[in-house]
Amino acid sequence: MSKLFDLIIKNVRVARPNKTSIDSLDIGIKDGKVNRLAHDLLAEQAEQTFDGRNYLAFPGCVDAHMHIGIYSPLAEDAVSESKAAAMGGVTSSLNYMRTGHYYLNRGGPYREFMPEVFKQSNGRFWVDYGYHIAPIEAAHIAEMEDLIVDHGITSFKIFMFYGGYGLHGRSSQQNEFLMIGPDDRYDIAHFEFIMRSAQRLMEKFPEKSSYISVSLHCELAEILNAYTKIVERDGKLTGLSAYSAARPPHSEGLAIWIASYLANETNCPNINLLHLSSRKAMQAAWIMQQVFPHIAFRREVTVGHLLLDTSCACAVHAKVNPPIRPREDVEALWEAVLDRKVDWIVSDHACCSAEQKWSRDDPNNIWLAKSGFGGTEYLLSGVLSEGCRRGMSYNRMAELLSWNPAKRFGLLSKGDIAPGYDADIVLVDPHSTFVVRAAESESHQGYSPFEGIELSGRVKNTFLRGALIYADGKIVGPPRGEYLRRPQSSPAVQTSAVQVYNQPN
Ligand SMILES: [Zn+2]
Repeated sequence: MSKLFDLIIKNVRVARPNKTSIDSLDIGIKDGKVNRLAHDLLAEQAEQTFDGRNYLAFPGCVDAHMHIGIYSPLAEDAVSESKAAAMGGVTSSLNYMRTGHYYLNRGGPYREFMPEVFKQSNGRFWVDYGYHIAPIEAAHIAEMEDLIVDHGITSFKIFMFYGGYGLHGRSSQQNEFLMIGPDDRYDIAHFEFIMRSAQRLMEKFPEKSSYISVSLHCELAEILNAYTKIVERDGKLTGLSAYSAARPPHSEGLAIWIASYLANETNCPNINLLHLSSRKAMQAAWIMQQVFPHIAFRREVTVGHLLLDTSCACAVHAKVNPPIRPREDVEALWEAVLDRKVDWIVSDHACCSAEQKWSRDDPNNIWLAKSGFGGTEYLLSGVLSEGCRRGMSYNRMAELLSWNPAKRFGLLSKGDIAPGYDADIVLVDPHSTFVVRAAESESHQGYSPFEGIELSGRVKNTFLRGALIYADGKIVGPPRGEYLRRPQSSPAVQTSAVQVYNQPN
């Protein structure tokens, strides 16, 4: 007869979202799901037990902003970068994907593009994965419905600066870069039509409507172009300070006002403001929340913007959009995080290998370097180290790294350690400190802007739907990652066999 549990993870301190305590419990797992949380579950009721050694158990992180397959072929990047995710305690990876240069390097309709994406992804991810899609050409707007119905893709992205600015700097060849026709315009009107389409789909599919959303990268090309020229001509600033000045915070703020006005105009209530990097961006986002209280804005920050500033030794290694900012902006972001004005924290992982990242002839030239870097493997440890220093609770970390993004993006079986949820569990030793060494990462990036930073909260073990995928510094087993069709159905409400026994604090 089969036993009650496939696995019991014994003796862990469970850090659940929406709670105010950390409880010492055992976790009973059956068929990849959390089945029971209780004290002293009996080992003989399980096929296997795992000693949790009094580590913290967090719900597996939902890294809701990644770019797997941007600078290397998707089929290769999926392997190395999803292993990096597993190392960092990330069990769900949501990846931004679009037509045009980089990624699959092709344009055309998503009905032809997506099968190739799935072909290259299938069986190559070590963690569960899904996609957010950016409608780039006008014809893509009509495909949003098919993306929802056929592929369970319910989140759409707008890159506000692409209409007049390239990925790494100035560009005058936008239609070529985005691989769109001469009559297509990637501009504010296009963004409006994306929001209108999302709104229509929310009405058409009311049962999915809370999980349909539009995400925006908020920076404006006109301001970036003008300030890049000024900073280059001036020649006084170099490195990250120059790049930050060339993409000034008010460009973010103004873009946020425009995006919010459009959201109200189009009656599109679910808006995600991605990777806010500065005090001005955060202020603008908060003002817009007061002006349009009926819009369910979500505000995102990245671990890079929370750990690095323009004075970092990492210099060109940390070139990213929006830029790494001066320390006062970093402090403003932390203030917002602690004030609960931020909804989730992500890595914005975009593995850009050393050979591609900087110019071989002029390696310190910030203008010639490419944008983006990886960091999913330091997401949880980075937030835990700095968050603990600033008095953030483990429960809140579980909300910012798992529960909140899972709920917004329709990952209803993710985000908590509770009966019926997927047994995505990460065990962390909060007292184990380590120094970031890119050489020790599974990522193929080969360097890290976080190099040399000491973090606490080392990830010891990662479980994906009850299977151990990372242990003692090594990836374990075959790639088990499954594609995440969204919205997932809610965890089944189970009856008598499943109860949560909470220990009083
Ligand atoms: Zn990104």
